[in-house]
Amino acid sequence: MLETLRRIVQEVNDAPNLRAALEVIVQRVKVAVKADVCSVYLTDFDKGRHVLRASDGLRPEAVDRVHLALHKGLIGLVCDRAEPINLQDATSHPNYRFIPETGEQPYNGFLGVPIIQHRRVLGVLVAQQREQRRFAEDEATFLLTLASQLAGAITHANASGELAAMQAAKRRQKRFMTGRPSASGVGIGTAVVAFRPAELRLVPDRPVDDPGQEVARFHAALDKASAEIGGLKQQMAISLSEEDAALFDAWAMLLRSDSLLNRVEELIQQGCWAPGALRRTIDEHCKVFESMEDAYMRERGSDIRDLGRRILSHLQHSQSLPPENYPASTILVGEEVSATQLAEVPVGQLKGIVCATGSSASHVAILARALGIPAIMGVADLQVGRLEGHELIVDGYLGRVHLQPPPSVLEEYAKLISEMHSQSAVLEQMRGCHSQTRDGERVHVYLNTGLVSETSSLGLEESEGVGLYRTELPFMVRDRFPSEEVQRNNYRRVLKHFHPRPVTLRTLDIGGDKPLPYFPINESNPFLGWRGIRISLDHPEIFLTQVRAMLRASVGLDNLRILLPMISHISEVIDAKRLIQQALDEVLQEGRKVRRPKLGVMIEVPSAVFQAEALACLVDFISLGTNDLTQYLLAVDRNNPNVGDLFSDLHPAVLKAIHQVMRDAGPQVEDISVCGEMAGNPLSAILLVGMGYRHLSMSAGGLLKIKYALSHIDLPLAQHMAASALCCEEPETVKILMERLLMEHDMLHLVAPTGAVGGS
Ligand code: PEP
Ligand code: MG
Repeated sequence: MLETLRRIVQEVNDAPNLRAALEVIVQRVKVAVKADVCSVYLTDFDKGRHVLRASDGLRPEAVDRVHLALHKGLIGLVCDRAEPINLQDATSHPNYRFIPETGEQPYNGFLGVPIIQHRRVLGVLVAQQREQRRFAEDEATFLLTLASQLAGAITHANASGELAAMQAAKRRQKRFMTGRPSASGVGIGTAVVAFRPAELRLVPDRPVDDPGQEVARFHAALDKASAEIGGLKQQMAISLSEEDAALFDAWAMLLRSDSLLNRVEELIQQGCWAPGALRRTIDEHCKVFESMEDAYMRERGSDIRDLGRRILSHLQHSQSLPPENYPASTILVGEEVSATQLAEVPVGQLKGIVCATGSSASHVAILARALGIPAIMGVADLQVGRLEGHELIVDGYLGRVHLQPPPSVLEEYAKLISEMHSQSAVLEQMRGCHSQTRDGERVHVYLNTGLVSETSSLGLEESEGVGLYRTELPFMVRDRFPSEEVQRNNYRRVLKHFHPRPVTLRTLDIGGDKPLPYFPINESNPFLGWRGIRISLDHPEIFLTQVRAMLRASVGLDNLRILLPMISHISEVIDAKRLIQQALDEVLQEGRKVRRPKLGVMIEVPSAVFQAEALACLVDFISLGTNDLTQYLLAVDRNNPNVGDLFSDLHPAVLKAIHQVMRDAGPQVEDISVCGEMAGNPLSAILLVGMGYRHLSMSAGGLLKIKYALSHIDLPLAQHMAASALCCEEPETVKILMERLLMEHDMLHLVAPTGAVGGS
């Protein structure tokens, strides 16, 4: 049964649309469990009913016509209970309803399983038998497994409007997909797909100007792949028997097979670029193999995919778009979008980012906020490969991506954009003002940054220095570790730019979701693994180079502060201080006049919260990384859209930790700041001020908003709000509390424009 299941799941995943997926399920399930009927009912929540959407066994005319009111019949019961119902004699059940339009004679055996996604029942998959029959336990789990596969397809169909079309509804169709709003604003532009090297599945279709040249490029890649396989064969010859080594010959033959070559060339001649033609050809070939009964032959499907990836990797020297080919308004779309891909878009042309994975705490989202670009993360139903070249609206307030929007929607958004401009005119009044509460309590605001291009224009004059410079970002956009001199120049530029204001350079915080392409770390649990200071201490040569570069950069400026990330043990601070002293001695021995920089630690893991006082005694300042602190306190991966709803820095447990750090560490250090995203959000910044924080560091986009919000609130009110929030039990209650406050002070527009394009 496992094998049958695997094959049906494959077929469902390959189905071109929901209708086809439903057909596959009902036909295959009916055979697999030897039932007389198999059907799928989907729930139409707007109309309050379950509609028969596919059936093998009932009258075909009944499909799309027969429906049951919510909570009615056995279907309603399965939905309400959200669990399978298995009845030997359904007709004697009090919920049984006879529906003559289905052509049903009374069916006795009944097995109904709910189709559920994210706690919501979307429909019911049913098997029925004329005779009395209780379905076996493994048949029920078989149906449940398939139902979970269908859930994804249904959600996608819902998002793309396919389901609405099936329902032939007259109401306006939803033509948007939803994800997590991760950087506010609205962007309108043309989709460009960002994909990782050798990810065949994600290669988009792109047109090609010169098919002849493209065919030649394909053949060159093919030659390299063949040579590679020849090389592999030689390499393995020592350890493999002749028979086993023959496998490599089979692969070489597959690579040169006429059917593969001809089809790729045909598609290129039709105007598709080589990587797209390759993806389509490999997909077609795989489907043939994977549908075969014979297990050996089915495995050949994965060989073909592997060969496809190999050819692709040789095609990819020229994979990224040349700068001149980016549309004037580009929306970057991807399964994941990296900092490098973001940096490749020419300055000023990037209007939005849409990611299938990730959440608002992902680093790419943080970068987007820093650049003032709307971003939506975790759009589970994003069909990345099909979006290239389409017009999109990215609504970073509501987390909606509109695909090929009709003129009426475009018009609404044009109005919204002009409203955003007038709101920013209100914020502009804050430019050049001190940051303080209405009753005059000073709150210092600083900039979070990491790319030199960011520091060139945005919010520079508004900040009182740099509260967090993420040094890993310049490391990420290179193909090797930058030399000490390259680093020194980079740091000096920033230190000089802000002089005499302080600049806090954080030492390398790679690992987690910030891998370096040239320093691979393969871990099953990267956020709990080799990250931040742990790598720096294990590789003193990298750490010393970086610290020396920082110290040399600060000669004559002396506005450098050094911050250590991911501290979870006291000994890490002691070891890091020793290395920093070593670097300082070296630089002093070179005859350079450098003052010892202030040293700080980040509090971003729970152990550091509980040892905040002891840590504070070892350093000059403390900075709270509330993004990671939230992740680690709530045990919620900041990048995982499945648990995105659980990630909230307004969670009372997070607030209590922040409050505790101020109480324990505040008196021991010169300053204590917050540099996580909450510092730049008016909702949470007011709470931080109420808890005693007077130093907030944020993305450029937050500076004027925070100044504006604080200038409308008196300190006692902020303190009162903090005390109330600390007594709440749920993040949602804190959110409502703070939104109400902003509304009462006519500031809700700081978190969402009043004219946001609503409706669902
Ligand atoms: C944080 O964790 O809050 C933080 C500021 O660091 P990063 O987002 O770079 O991990
Ligand atoms: Mg962090």
